[in-house]
Formats: sequence, structure tokens, C-alpha cells
Amino acid sequence: MRTIIEPFKIKMVEALQMTTREQREQIISSVDFNPFLIRSEDVLIDLLTDSGTSSMSDRQWAALISADEAYAGSRSYFKFEDKIQEITGFKHVIPTHQGRAAERILFSVATKQGDIVPNNTHFDTTRANIEFTKAIAVDLQDEACTDPELEAPFKGNLDLEKLRALLEEVGPERIPLGMITVTNNASGGQPVSMANIRATSELLRSHDIPFIIDACRFSENAYFIKTREAGYADKSLLEIAQEMFSMADGCTMSAKKDAFANIGGFLAINNDEWAVQARTLLVLTEGFPTYGGLAGRDLAAIAQGLDEVLDEDYMQYRIRSTQYLGDNLEKVGVPIYKPTGGHAIYINARKFLPHIPPEHFPGQALVVEMYIEGGIRAVEIGSVMFGKTNPDTGALIPAKNELVRMAIPRRVYTQSHVDYVIEAMGDLARRKDAVQGLQFKLEAPVLRHFTSTFKRL
Ligand SMILES: *Cc1c(COP(=O)(O)O)cnc(C)c1O
Repeated sequence: MRTIIEPFKIKMVEALQMTTREQREQIISSVDFNPFLIRSEDVLIDLLTDSGTSSMSDRQWAALISADEAYAGSRSYFKFEDKIQEITGFKHVIPTHQGRAAERILFSVATKQGDIVPNNTHFDTTRANIEFTKAIAVDLQDEACTDPELEAPFKGNLDLEKLRALLEEVGPERIPLGMITVTNNASGGQPVSMANIRATSELLRSHDIPFIIDACRFSENAYFIKTREAGYADKSLLEIAQEMFSMADGCTMSAKKDAFANIGGFLAINNDEWAVQARTLLVLTEGFPTYGGLAGRDLAAIAQGLDEVLDEDYMQYRIRSTQYLGDNLEKVGVPIYKPTGGHAIYINARKFLPHIPPEHFPGQALVVEMYIEGGIRAVEIGSVMFGKTNPDTGALIPAKNELVRMAIPRRVYTQSHVDYVIEAMGDLARRKDAVQGLQFKLEAPVLRHFTSTFKRL
């Protein structure tokens, strides 16, 4: 097979600022070894997140310019609503400024103290918004699938036995809704099969529990279904997405992911009562129901982006280029979470730096070295992000895995950028035994990865 090329050409460019290794050494120590605190112009290849970092297409920019900025009844809203209804089939489309605003509104309407919300794995903002209503967010992923080494096609799946057990234990009255996140961002960006979505839907609906999809990467998930699940090879991504959503009662979505937008999101639901309450809250904190905290131009860019993300040539390139990075990192001796997911590569830092114990944060040590080695910015997903300090002993309660996520912005970097990353990581692999661990200089009380500072041992 020939090389799968970027299915676009470049019409506008943004210069990258080169730095030397000495400069990067100085920069990373000036921010106390936390890459979140580096200015983006000092980063060469920024793999911190795929959220809001996509390149928009010429058609999206054109849609931006011709958008309707009316306060009420904007033409751009109706385009947005039409596109979302075409894909999801949901009756009420409620625009929000981000995915988490859709979550906040949904849970404010649907959950209360003591309720339980199951999901394959809750994303951190989803969990936080559920817990904010004093309800309980429960992860029901298959235990075996949290092993970075296991090769399986749908490691994002929800464990139906666990859902059945939960229903029996607490009763359906305490479960106002159930969720599935596609792809499973908090667990390696792994996909969920159509069979698993169907079985989850049937089980929830047999107890009259609404089923909501966290749809941030719905098209990436549809592509995995097309290429990995029997019976879907000849279906279009749109048809697969429509089938996924037909089994649900609503979805939350961050348009900063699979809609190629720099901001935006939405809540789409069938329940009329929820929709009335959701729009009441929307007016309070986001805006009038036909813009919901977004400019008309954002709605237009999202509608266009949702069309483009279902293009198969794009998605083949997207998934293949992520896999190319993963395969080649393994070749240069960097162990990764397998198989490669859709939007990111997760390096297994515990395996890469076995001489650094969790107490000395191997993932954080690795992101620091990646910046020094190549000006590459990534994020630790390990004991800095998810570990806790025992208040009595001061000892670390480590996270389950010590990972580093390299998220791939959509349509931003070319193959030579990716090759550069692979070369830099190969050089880093050759000197990895000399990499030192870190300790806290200042430990932030919550969301430690954003603002904590560190020092070398
Ligand atoms: C990004 C994300 C969200 C939240 O969306 P924001 O636009 O960042 O508020 C929710 N769920 C998943 C799976 C996500 O990846």
C-alpha cells in the first residue's frame, strides 16, 4: 500500500520558533519543571491536548465570515441544529461554550444528591460536574482493559456485568441516567464497539434509564467500528454515527474535539422536560437558546466541521497517522499503551523509566526531558495528576498507571513533524537511564498537574 498522505494542502502557515537545548534547559527550570507553565511560543511541537487546537479548513473560515450574528433566530444556529440533528437524530439541540457547560446543565437538570451515574470511564470534567450535584460518578470499565499491554480492539467498552451488578445493588431509582464515552479519553483513547453500545442501551432502557453518549470523539469511534467490528466495513461514518446515536436518548459534546472548532459544544436530548429546564439554565449562564454562549461564527464553524469530520479520507489519515507515531515510537524503544487509540499516544513511563519509582514521578520526569530533548510538550497522566498524598503519613498514594499523553491536534502537524518527534524520542531513549526523578516544590491542593511546581532530586 502507498503512503497515506495528509488529505489536505496548506493555505496558511504559522511560523514555529526554534529554540536551542540550552534555552530549553533554562526555560523548563524557570517554570519549575511544569510544562503547563511554558509559553506556547517556546514550544516547538505542542502535544499537550487535541482540545481546541485543530486547524480549521478554508470552508470553516468561509463559514465564519458569512455567519449570522443575530441574537435570536440566527441562520447559523439553524445550520448547526440541522447538522446535529442529521447526525444524532436528537430533538433538542442546545449550544454551549464548551463540553463541560453541556455537562453542567445536564447534571443540574438530571441528577441530585445520592444519585449514581455509571459510565465506561468518566472524563475528569464529567466526574467533577456530577460530583458538584452531590451525585456519585461510577466507572465501569472492564478491569483487564486498563492493562497497557493488552491488545484488544475495543478496550474502551463498558463492563455489562458490572452495570448489571450496580443496577441490582442500588436499584434503578438511584440511577437517573447512564453514560458511555466515545472514544474513552480517560482510558487510553480506546474505542467502544457498537455491540457494547447496543447492549448498554438495552440494559439501561429495560429499566427506563435514559442513556447519554459523551460524544466528543464520535467520528473517531465510528471509524474504529468500521475497521474493527464485523458488519460495518461498507457503512459510511455518518451511517455508523447515526446508528450509535439511535440507541441513546441524548449526548454531550465538546466541539473542540471532533468538530475542528477552537471553542464550543452542545447538549442534544430527546426529553422535552429536560430540554425546558436546560434552556432555562442556559439563558441564566450561557445565553439565549439559539447561541448559548457562542458567536454565530462559532456555530457556523462547528456545523461545517461536523461535516468534515465524517469524511473517510480524513479519518483514515487521522487514525493512521496516530498509529504511525505509536508504531515508530515502539521501534525506537519507547513503550506505549496498546493498541494505539484515536487522538493520542500514551507512553508507559513506568516501563520506560523503571529506575524512577512513582514517588519521584516518572511521567513528569519524562515530559520534562521531552521538552529539553526536542521542544515537545506532553502531559503527565500518572501520580502527579491522579496520585494523592496521605494526609497522615505524607506518603504518596500512587495512580494506577504512570503514563504520558501525546495528544495529536487535528490537521496541524505534517509527517515530517511526526518524524522529528520520533527521532527526538529515539535520542531520549538512548540516554533514559540517566534521567532523574522529581519531587514537589509546591504541591497544588487540587488538579495538581496544572499548577504544581517541582525540583530535581
Ligand atoms: C474534552 C472532553 C470533555 C469536556 O469538554 P470541554 O470542551 O473541554 O469542556 C468531556 N468529555 C470528554 C471525553 C472530553 O474529551
